[in-house]
Amino acid sequence: MRVLLVQSPTGRVEVPIYPLGLAFLAGQLKGHELRGLDMSLGRFDPASLTRELQDFEADLVAISLRNIDDSSYPLTHSYVEPFTSLVKELENWQGTVLVGGTGFSIYPGIVMERHPRIDYGLPGEGESVLPEFLAYLEGGPGPEGWDEGRLLPWRKPDLACIGLPDYSVFDVSDYPVPDSIGVQSRRGCAYGCTYCTYGYLGGREFRTRPVSHVIQDIRQLEIMGVKRFQFVDSLFNAPEKYFLELLEALEQEGTSMSWSAWLDESVTSEQFRRMRSAGAVKVDLSPDAITDRGLRLLRKRSRSGDLLPAVRAARKEGLQVGINFFNGNPGEGLAAFLRKLAFMLRVRLLLGWRDTFVNIGTIRVYAHSPLARQMVETGMLPVDCDFYDPVFHRGRGPSDWLYRVFQRVRRLRHE
Ligand code: SF4
Repeated sequence: MRVLLVQSPTGRVEVPIYPLGLAFLAGQLKGHELRGLDMSLGRFDPASLTRELQDFEADLVAISLRNIDDSSYPLTHSYVEPFTSLVKELENWQGTVLVGGTGFSIYPGIVMERHPRIDYGLPGEGESVLPEFLAYLEGGPGPEGWDEGRLLPWRKPDLACIGLPDYSVFDVSDYPVPDSIGVQSRRGCAYGCTYCTYGYLGGREFRTRPVSHVIQDIRQLEIMGVKRFQFVDSLFNAPEKYFLELLEALEQEGTSMSWSAWLDESVTSEQFRRMRSAGAVKVDLSPDAITDRGLRLLRKRSRSGDLLPAVRAARKEGLQVGINFFNGNPGEGLAAFLRKLAFMLRVRLLLGWRDTFVNIGTIRVYAHSPLARQMVETGMLPVDCDFYDPVFHRGRGPSDWLYRVFQRVRRLRHE
């Protein structure tokens, strides 16, 4: 069967992100003819899809809808419109249309209802379902547990049993920006931070891939000439035993590539040193809140006093550090926002302006997150709110006003 794997367009020029989810699917489809088309690269041209379908004579197009919008407040860019144009382009095509991806998986019902042209939806992780579905299209039995409706079953496969991602379907040289290419060593997360959908999407536990598989991914990329990648895991330093095993393997393998990863503040100085010697060049921390009350209300593991020592320890080892906060999160208002600004100035001035980055965003509340439930239960939002159109947990009054000014200044600087 000829399968065209399509990354949904973003509708504007953005930093390229390698379609890792589709690469994982490609890795499971041995015996089928595959081609990749990343429509998020460059300017969006819906007709290029038709040209590709005709040239490749595809039987099935599998589209990944990674995000519904860019989660930015106050200016939010929707990815739904370019996705709608993409699906519209398929109206007169005779083949099978299947859609999956993270954004789709949060809202499968809404997307299927609004787009009758989509034949099948694949929510969650498709590695074990998609090969069975292709066998069904070729006359075999359907995937186990499927009711033959438009939605295929949602499975969480054993990560030790799935094949390696196939990084050859999308040309890695199209993603030259640092951190554009991802390696995934685990899925799910055991820590239920209130705004997060990782637990819903990947399970409320860490599901790890065998360390040897992760090393093979890295080797694949190295052979392809990739110089830098990002671990796209929920939390690279948890569970700790797996973190240390992977670190040891990275040290022993001695890869020439550099990498970055998302961590929390519980990493020790020695662990930062080992990460550096294993190729790490940047770490991203996501404390989100700056006060103990704010951290508690977001159900974060760390305490406010943990952040600065962790940033210092990482910088001491020569690692670049990204720090991510939210404004207007539960329990934090104007005073907390001013503290976040002061923290930003302090760490950038003291620990390196060009190597210490602070981002202050706003929580985009997604369906199935604990925060979405809380906002409905406490009457902040109506019970029929579906969170498909952007909903933010944002500051009010002066905190919101100042945040808007801050974002405007940032935008002008970057433009
Ligand atoms: S924010 Fe990070 S640590 Fe918290 S639940 Fe999500 S992935 Fe886990």
